Amino acid sequence: MTSQLDSLLDKPAADEGAARRRVPVVLTVALDQTYDYLLPEGIEAEPGSFVLVPFGPQSRIGVVWDGPVGEPGKAIEPNKLKTIAGRLDAPPLPPLSLKFAEWIARYTLSPLGMVVRMMMSARTAFEPVKPRFGVTLVEDAPSPARMTPARKRALEVAADGAIRAKSALAGEAQCSTGVIDGLVAAGNLVEVAIPEKRAALPDPKHHATEFTPEQARAAHALVSAVDAGNFSVTLLDGVTGSGKTEVYFEAVARTLGRDKQALIMLPEIALTDQFMRRFEARFGCAPVEWHSALSGPERGRVWRSVATGEARVVVGARSALFLPFKELGLIIVDEEHDSGFKQDDRVHYQARDMAVVRGNLGAFPVVLASATPSIESHVNARTGRYRHVVLPARYSGAALPEVTAIDLRKSPPDKGKWLSPVLVAAIAETLAAGQQTLLFLNRRGYAPLTLCRSCGHRIECPQCTAWLVEHRFRGRLHCHHCGFSIPLPEKCPKCGEPGALVACGPGVERVAEEVTERFPEARLALLSSDLVPGITEMREMIREIEAGGIDIVIGTQMVAKGHHFPHLATVGIVDGDLGLAQGADPRAGERTFQLLHQVTGRAGRAFAEGHGYVQTHMPEHPVMEAIIRGDREAFLEREIAIRRSGLLPPFGRLAALIVSARHKETAQLVARDIVRRAPPADRIEILGPAEAPLAVIRGRHRWRLLVKAPREIDVQAYLRAWLAAMPPLKGDIRLTVDVDPYSFL
Ligand code: ADP
Ligand code: ZN
Repeated sequence: MTSQLDSLLDKPAADEGAARRRVPVVLTVALDQTYDYLLPEGIEAEPGSFVLVPFGPQSRIGVVWDGPVGEPGKAIEPNKLKTIAGRLDAPPLPPLSLKFAEWIARYTLSPLGMVVRMMMSARTAFEPVKPRFGVTLVEDAPSPARMTPARKRALEVAADGAIRAKSALAGEAQCSTGVIDGLVAAGNLVEVAIPEKRAALPDPKHHATEFTPEQARAAHALVSAVDAGNFSVTLLDGVTGSGKTEVYFEAVARTLGRDKQALIMLPEIALTDQFMRRFEARFGCAPVEWHSALSGPERGRVWRSVATGEARVVVGARSALFLPFKELGLIIVDEEHDSGFKQDDRVHYQARDMAVVRGNLGAFPVVLASATPSIESHVNARTGRYRHVVLPARYSGAALPEVTAIDLRKSPPDKGKWLSPVLVAAIAETLAAGQQTLLFLNRRGYAPLTLCRSCGHRIECPQCTAWLVEHRFRGRLHCHHCGFSIPLPEKCPKCGEPGALVACGPGVERVAEEVTERFPEARLALLSSDLVPGITEMREMIREIEAGGIDIVIGTQMVAKGHHFPHLATVGIVDGDLGLAQGADPRAGERTFQLLHQVTGRAGRAFAEGHGYVQTHMPEHPVMEAIIRGDREAFLEREIAIRRSGLLPPFGRLAALIVSARHKETAQLVARDIVRRAPPADRIEILGPAEAPLAVIRGRHRWRLLVKAPREIDVQAYLRAWLAAMPPLKGDIRLTVDVDPYSFL
């Protein structure tokens, strides 16, 4: 709690005896009910208001709710009720945000307080706005008694009358801030508050796009959905480079014209400045951005501007959905198939699905865009629940790249190498033609496994069921699950044999090493989240690639999303089989198809001769065949049939329960006990408990249950009744509920 908030508590309690109202408050902690508090005389707090309340020995931020939630237990005597300490100076959550929070809490079985907490993910929005101070010239002041060259320069810069931060003025005048302070003391400069910059207003008419007839039809469909002014979901299904972005910008423009706010959601790593530039070209100014790289004060400013309605268009990652929109009228979910929209931390939610819920609550259209829509969205489009708008061709007229399978059984790489001679030849040819190559491998680091040649020992994480991954640039072994890391040992930790440790298998760093050996002249870029420090650096690298300053790009899934690389002619997938190995995951085939299609689809977007190569040990696998033949329909038919017959999503519902504890036996016993207590139900199947594939994470042993039910069954109601009847969990045991799980590890 900040001192500012604490000082509110020090104020004398409101006048005792005066008539005071009782209001329900949701506290931002893991509790699923409201608590009643008294509202002191003279303070108004409509539902949605942020208040500071005493809770146990502490003070906490709470939100005044529009009615009681949960089972507040026996009514507390009015004279025992505690009093709200004060109201925070932040715009209240709009009524729809309260409804939305309740909906998510019910659907995900998360405590309402934790959902509300996600809606406040900008601490500084709840603190008094601190004006920033700068300096400006005092006109007509007599020249300072002592005039130095530095002072002269500073006064010359300040002569334009602008307000600048001291450091900015010092920078421009190439002097120290001490010089600026001296001029303030001399009365030639004065300190004034810097006015808050207002968000620029996007202009729907700034630049009209000239559409192809197909694009125009698609844009018209989206604009009509906006004009209808009610809830609808449209699947905008168009091949990579077909102009989906340009098309949905029309719906954004129309929404602006109707004085509503619009939200464009993208997977975090697709929030490139390429996208921001395209937005600016269309609307004349940058959108308001919301992502993890914003600073605290920026988050606060964005939060408030969304609540006041000053921000008209927000472009953001999944958490942007929880901003307090005053008058939201459209949500676009771009790359809607992306599993990054699923949050697997605290509140387990699928942001794409929750965007649809938000549209329904707010009675406005939602657009889901993708070149490889999820099976869920395909099925919804086929059954007519969603509208289906298709863009079948690339805007540039270029054909989709031809994709070739490289059968690693027939043309294997040289020993200790990872690129087949066929792929090496293709890279050489591309280089010779002055074009770009992208090599994709969804594996960070140098090698996924380090093995002792002498005793066979494999180096594992001491706290997880996972091998340590070698990161050679850093000279360390890392665990990708818990962050544990050690320097690369010189001898085997088991048998002590020096120099016997060998790296097994490739990561992107190792592929980069091979490429450097083979093509020492080529300009290389290695994109991997652990090597690129932040979103700004990533944006710079993407710009460099776009500009053609790179010959060979090697990357993890960071490169797979949303980018448009005009010089890219050849794409090589180093390990096409990697994603298919996940046995228990019903979406493994779908994800592999999407990823391979998206990555190979980066090739040749601007010219005709793009080519994709997939290295695989199983070219006859149906997913591989569909990729190579470019036969999406065949893939869909097969995948939908599998899902239907197995009652898998979207034909059935899944929920995972994960029990974890320090001791394996405890976790197992509790998991068994939970299963024993499951209420009987005809059509609900409970699978497990089984030890999780990732059996131990951070020293916690994990057991999984999977609840499976037909679509029409209310799984949440079943789970709620089940969990409510369970005795409280003791000690270090934890139970996680994941409705619609995307991870089965
Ligand atoms: P998608 O989102 O379907 O992959 P984009 O919207 O990114 O496709 O379009 C691909 C490229 O084609 C972009 O560079 C975009 O600016 C260009 N483009 C698409 N449609 C048009 C159009 N009607 N006029 C001008 N450029 C267009
Ligand atoms: Zn670990």
